[in-house]
Amino acid sequence: MSDLWWLVLLLFGLAIALLLLSLRERRKSRLPQAQVVYADTDLWQKVPATLVDQRLGMVGKPDYVMRTRQGGLIPVEIKTGHTPETPYDSHRLQLMAYGLLIQSNYAQIPQYGLLHYPEKVFKVDFTPELQAQLVETLEDIRWIETQIEAPARSHSSSARCRSCGYRGICDHKII
Ligand code: SF4
Repeated sequence: MSDLWWLVLLLFGLAIALLLLSLRERRKSRLPQAQVVYADTDLWQKVPATLVDQRLGMVGKPDYVMRTRQGGLIPVEIKTGHTPETPYDSHRLQLMAYGLLIQSNYAQIPQYGLLHYPEKVFKVDFTPELQAQLVETLEDIRWIETQIEAPARSHSSSARCRSCGYRGICDHKII
């Protein structure tokens, strides 16, 4: 057999090995079988931009945004540590916030999101009640922020502000 054929066989074997490896990693992650459209990782891509909702003054980076077979987008949040009987309220609100960020950034309204604990995955429906609870919590946070004098900024890095979780409510941010 010529050298060229050996090279073709080698590349083919390598491609199969990589495919099997990625399937195994995907199974281990227990993510739903859906297309990943956003992933907060730099493992195989440039770190994606932070999602911003100007109206609600929210910024955030969901662990994953996935496109389901029906074409809808859903946020998936991976949680480590203890698996609770039911999802923690703070985690449900965080997921709802990602739902609204998807709505602002992708012009699609997610119907639900997934909270991925080590032992169990919970589906969290984005009900009007949960959305109202989030808006109320954001208002509470903003009110508390107005009662506390913000410390002076300790840096001059606009990149740092762009990726900061407090950007939406910080008066010292560099735009
Ligand atoms: S947005 Fe505000 S809190 Fe965040 S890094 Fe910038 S100055 Fe600091």
